[in-house]
Amino acid sequence: MGIHTTDAIVLRHYPYRETSALVSCLTDRFGKIKGLIKGLRGPQPSRYRSPMEPLTINRIVFYDSRSSALHLISQCDLLVSFQEFSTEWELMRMAASFVELADAVLEVEEPQPAVYQLLRATLHQLSTDRPEQRAATRVHFVLRLLRLVGFQPQLDQCTGCNQATIAQGFWSAGQGGLLCEACLHLDPSAEPISTAWLEALRACAEADAPKPLLHQQAHGFQQRLDEFLRWRIDRPLKTLGRPQPAPV
Ligand SMILES: [Zn+2]
Repeated sequence: MGIHTTDAIVLRHYPYRETSALVSCLTDRFGKIKGLIKGLRGPQPSRYRSPMEPLTINRIVFYDSRSSALHLISQCDLLVSFQEFSTEWELMRMAASFVELADAVLEVEEPQPAVYQLLRATLHQLSTDRPEQRAATRVHFVLRLLRLVGFQPQLDQCTGCNQATIAQGFWSAGQGGLLCEACLHLDPSAEPISTAWLEALRACAEADAPKPLLHQQAHGFQQRLDEFLRWRIDRPLKTLGRPQPAPV
């Protein structure tokens, strides 16, 4: 058994018995961990966010109980509360979608420092974004996260025949990315996608920070990434909106 101090972004939080909670959090050094916190709940001031609420960053001390995946968290200090998320429903929904997706794609106890940094930076970015910048932040987060965990859409060659030089590419969420014309039979509903869009998607996946996107591009990317997530993530994501018709 070891005792560790680490910074943790809370992904999920469930009340447990009278005064305890079960949490899933993404730590800077240990990856995603699950923990039990005793004696946390009680008469807390409701105006401010409390330690270990979802979407807060905390410094925690936990006992690594090697025999189980559930660790006892003995101390937690709130570092960042992201109070601004509580002021607007849409902002909260988007922030919640980031932690839900991170939770869905990360394995327990697999150190992912780059994903931790990405999630932390993205939450900070979102908290200061103007509303029109948020879509680009989301597109970057989804692509970069999927890239870091090896789950990204295939954008540089056809998912059917692996050909890299493609005159007209098609986007197929079901096939996992790009299709060439000769492989359209694999997904006849695949839609044409321009080289410029493919390049922009690839650049987003490699970039450390969001890049500005035109409104139509950001909207189109979000739709395609949402389709991709519906196909590829085993767990249905609650924060994913309903499918929308593709833009003309
Ligand atoms: Zn092909």
